[in-house]
Amino acid sequence: MTSPNPDPAVPADDAAGDHLATPLEGVRAAIARAAGLAGRGADTVELIAVSKTRTAEEIAPLIAAGQRSFGENRVQEAEGKWPALRATTPGLRLHLVGQLQSNKAEAAVALFDVIHAVDRPSLVKALAAAIAKTGRTPECFVQVNIGEEAQKGGCAISDLPGLLDTARDAGLPIAGLMAVPPADTEAAPYFALLAKLARDHALPGLSMGMSGDYETAVMLGATCVRVGTALFGDRA
Ligand SMILES: *Cc1c(COP(=O)(O)O)cnc(C)c1O
Repeated sequence: MTSPNPDPAVPADDAAGDHLATPLEGVRAAIARAAGLAGRGADTVELIAVSKTRTAEEIAPLIAAGQRSFGENRVQEAEGKWPALRATTPGLRLHLVGQLQSNKAEAAVALFDVIHAVDRPSLVKALAAAIAKTGRTPECFVQVNIGEEAQKGGCAISDLPGLLDTARDAGLPIAGLMAVPPADTEAAPYFALLAKLARDHALPGLSMGMSGDYETAVMLGATCVRVGTALFGDRA
């Protein structure tokens, strides 16, 4: 396959030497603007470049441009890609943004710095055991099924207090809440609800906002946004 734009971090129409921003610069500027409107510094928002399905060659330009936080949704795919990239770049922060099976908890704890999809007591226990065994302690977010959708991951809103109790009893520190709002509907009410739940439980972290809605998420309090296609282009 040939592509007129082999480097996805550089827009095709920049070939003439126009000083157009790269997608990364554009997303960073949009986050700074949204944070500013909310009276926050841009440095209160962590931009996670969601690099699932992207090759090391697609990821390298972002690393070269200073991006350090990346998100993957499969443990095995991340194990294949990141050890080599990590060997060449110190200070990378790896986020697991997808569902995690309990039998992969130890591999996830060994590789990731942040785990965003803690959603059931059995996973809390598997993660606590993996942390005790490996001596690594990733930050953990509880994923909430904020739209109460049957097919979506995340704990039910009504199960959240119990799951947070389970995490506390297991000694698993919870940094905040994460959610993916229902598709094809206004995300803001769901972001606001997630922010309220985090406040109710005195949790400082809010992982919300993707390519289509990360500015809204920042205005409503997101501390990390998970952005894929706006940085890398459409996934195959
Ligand atoms: C893929 C994914 C993202 C990024 O989605 P984009 O629409 O490509 O920005 C964010 N969060 C989760 C949980 C994902 O699986």
